[in-house]
Amino acid sequence: MAKGNINVQAENIFPIIKKFLYSDQEIFLRELVANAIDATQKLKTLSSIDKIKGDIGELRVEVVLDEKAKTITIKDNGLGMSADEVDKYINEIAFSGAEEFVKKFKDKGDGANIIGHFGLGFYSAFMVAEKVEIITKSYKKTVKAAHWTCDGSPNYEMVEHDRKDRGTDIILHVNEEDSIEFLDKNRIQGLLSKYCKFLPVDIKFGTNEETKKTGEGDDAKEETIVTDNIINNPKPAWTQTPSKLTDVDYRSFYHELYPSNFEEPLFHIHLNVDFPFNLTGILYFPKLNNSMEVQKDKIQLYCNQVFVTDSVEGIVPDFLMLLHGVLDSPDIPLNVSRSYLQSDASVKKISNHITKKVADKLESLFKKDRKDFESKWDDIKVFIEYGMLSEEKFNDKASKFCLFKNTAGEYHTMEEYLKKITPNQTDKDKKVVCLYTSNVDEQYSYIESAKAKGYDVLVMDSPLTSHLLSKLESNNADTTFVRVDSDTVEKLIKKDEEVPSKLSEKDEEKLKPIIEEVVPKEKFTVSFESMSEKEQPFIITEPEFMRRMKEQQKMGGGGMMMMGAMPEMYNLVINSNHEIVGKMLKEKDSKKQKALIKQTSDLAMLSQNLLKGEALNSFIKRSLDMIK
Ligand code: ADP
Ligand code: MG
Repeated sequence: MAKGNINVQAENIFPIIKKFLYSDQEIFLRELVANAIDATQKLKTLSSIDKIKGDIGELRVEVVLDEKAKTITIKDNGLGMSADEVDKYINEIAFSGAEEFVKKFKDKGDGANIIGHFGLGFYSAFMVAEKVEIITKSYKKTVKAAHWTCDGSPNYEMVEHDRKDRGTDIILHVNEEDSIEFLDKNRIQGLLSKYCKFLPVDIKFGTNEETKKTGEGDDAKEETIVTDNIINNPKPAWTQTPSKLTDVDYRSFYHELYPSNFEEPLFHIHLNVDFPFNLTGILYFPKLNNSMEVQKDKIQLYCNQVFVTDSVEGIVPDFLMLLHGVLDSPDIPLNVSRSYLQSDASVKKISNHITKKVADKLESLFKKDRKDFESKWDDIKVFIEYGMLSEEKFNDKASKFCLFKNTAGEYHTMEEYLKKITPNQTDKDKKVVCLYTSNVDEQYSYIESAKAKGYDVLVMDSPLTSHLLSKLESNNADTTFVRVDSDTVEKLIKKDEEVPSKLSEKDEEKLKPIIEEVVPKEKFTVSFESMSEKEQPFIITEPEFMRRMKEQQKMGGGGMMMMGAMPEMYNLVINSNHEIVGKMLKEKDSKKQKALIKQTSDLAMLSQNLLKGEALNSFIKRSLDMIK
């Protein structure tokens, strides 16, 4: 028997490890199962290069929970260790890693992020165990098995063991005082499915707690059995060759990742890069509709199929966090802190690469089947708009597949659209004016007026529209976006033609103060305009720049926080050629004249959705009186 003292300066580092990693105790299972998997993979490699002769059999890892004995055992039939190797890898190397870790991070909070980085993997066992045993037998036939025991002090014990079969058992004697939660079957099951769901070797999980009756009558026996079932999928879709997978495979993998999500993804991107870094993964486009309220932390990050985290902020660009799926890279330094990650050059490269791949995929989907792409557009546009606004490189590429839908339901790229509207929608300063509506129902009458003039109207109803407009205007020189209700139809696109007015300047001067008496002056600026008689008599508009400022302020952008809330101000434009306006002027009875103005201005407000509460109620009453 050998006794030893692990060569460390620190008196007893275990309590320190425990304390600093307390919040993330659960990762012990990930670390130990990952080691077991490593051991099987190393054996496989040795066999493949003929360092091991003969059949190595089926490789497997088992996790056994014994609630009565209060142990968790992690077993593998990997390459195993000799006593010398335990000395070297466990007593020296792993321990010096642990010691280094403690020295460096004693005063820092985020210990758990750094754990594996310092080779602390194995020692994380002491976060939950008061005693740990290793029973291991090397694949080398002549080497005897070893039994290592350590009770959490720097002292360990190592003796020979009579184990004959190749592999390693790690036995954790769970500390009842503060780790009793890990003696619960559901807890362990949960951890295995969180961290080990896609590990590359079959993992069985069982407990010693269930008993089974065998035989009949006098032969009846009760025996304790290990119920075990495989808890992982060792060949998840992202590790397979894309050409071998069908759409059905991709979809069923999606549901394997998100068992409680019943929506189908719209499409997927299979990433497969081996130069200049290693990255595999599958990203899915979920249905976004018009909301940004989606869960952001849906992408899972893996390192060689070991789950690491589902908070990928700083690793993938912000807009891509709306996607679902998995990323797997041994090159992302996963075990370091988040701030380190964000400044890491290879992480930045990976992030740029993903952005490029996503843009390329969208472009190819657009080119391959435009109809299909159009049918999905409304569900993905928020994502694409977000990308255009936040990543310049994505914005450059997106111009090829970003679509604009008009009120007729036709989709165009910006290039196609500008070609279409330039002849009729160029103003006198040679600017092409794109008209848009943010709400087809609310701005109905304005849309109709624009259509009557032969103008086309785009539907721009996403929550990002006000930011996107400025972007589009800077992407496309000599183009401007104007909402249909921001001016009268004559002035939306200013041309040189003038419509003659039926009212003289004198008439207008007479009528203006009377109208101002009826409508609230602080809210409406009254002006006259000679329009087609077919247009409505009174029209309420809100200048484009005013509304955009208001909207951006609402979204907390544009640096206008200092200005305070913008006042509610509208233009009330009087169509000097409309029959009713002529009637207003001629009306001698002042009471009747005001009633006419009131009714007309209420109708204008109604059409802008501005007539509410008491005003709306008295309008309805008045209208009913009229038809009585
Ligand atoms: P790392 O896995 O990063 O090398 P660990 O502390 O997790 O660090 O493990 C230390 C070493 O102990 C491993 O590199 C390996 O050589 C050895 N080891 C741990 N677990 C096993 C196992 N189940 N089978 C064989 N060797 C193991
Ligand atoms: Mg390890």
